Amino acid sequence: AGRLDGKVAVITGAASGIGLGTVELFVAEGCRVVAADIQDEKGRALEQRFGQAVRYARCDVTDEAQIAAAMALAKSEFGGLDILFNNAGISDGMRQIVEIEAERWDWIYSVLVRGPALGMKHAVPLMLERGGGAIINTASIAGMQAGWGPIAYSSAKAAVLHMSKVAAAQLSPQKIRVNAICPGLIATSIFGASMGLPREVADQMAARVAEMGGTVQPIPKAGLPSDIAEAALYLASDAGAFVSGTHIVVDGGITVG
Ligand code: NAD
Repeated sequence: AGRLDGKVAVITGAASGIGLGTVELFVAEGCRVVAADIQDEKGRALEQRFGQAVRYARCDVTDEAQIAAAMALAKSEFGGLDILFNNAGISDGMRQIVEIEAERWDWIYSVLVRGPALGMKHAVPLMLERGGGAIINTASIAGMQAGWGPIAYSSAKAAVLHMSKVAAAQLSPQKIRVNAICPGLIATSIFGASMGLPREVADQMAARVAEMGGTVQPIPKAGLPSDIAEAALYLASDAGAFVSGTHIVVDGGITVG
């Protein structure tokens, strides 16, 4: 039996990278998934690939109406909602403090912080109808330590970590657990993009990094989306029933010291 049999999830940023890896694992574990993203072509390809188990929702997480619509789709297509994986994200290059642009700052915070908050807002009522649920927010090692990313991105991810705790305190009595995951270097397109590379180059590079390995961390290679998906599965499933208000670091040990 699948570990998510009968469950319904909304996954944001589902068209690529960590989100896509989580769609694959969750569906394999019996979950039905609303795959939310802004890449329509890739999103619709998921419907083709997974058939009845996946519905694509065009959902820009900076747009509250589109977030509400994605949650509503979970209800109308699959009968309700049990799991929300707030995972959509963008990077902010290698921007220095003197390079901060006010509008870009607002955009980063809108995607990385306000998006997950509004996602929770619209998911919780549906989870309460089911008697509980699980929310997982993708933070980052950049939200734990300085030195991994630019200031807007890093502080936004720190906000995600704290927001997860605040939400856990408020929601766990109602049987909704809230946790975060802190990925380290994971071979996805964002990883290359954060180094200022164009998307195509970033995609190629991310793939190469995974093969290449490195020496900077105890487990010397880039992580894969599936590494994060397994942590999300633990937190989303009954295996994580006693876990709320915390985060799991999946980083090959890079933050050990
Ligand atoms: P990715 O670029 O492969 O995937 C991100 C997805 O989010 C894309 O499909 C993109 O279309 C989508 N997205 C972007 N803006 C959106 C918006 N406004 N609304 C809806 N969807 C949007 O990158 P990834 O590495 O899979 O990133 C997933 C999450 O993991 C992000 O939150 C990222 O910050 C975090 N993260 C990644 C790493 C890493 O090394 N890859 C490390 C730490 C944290």
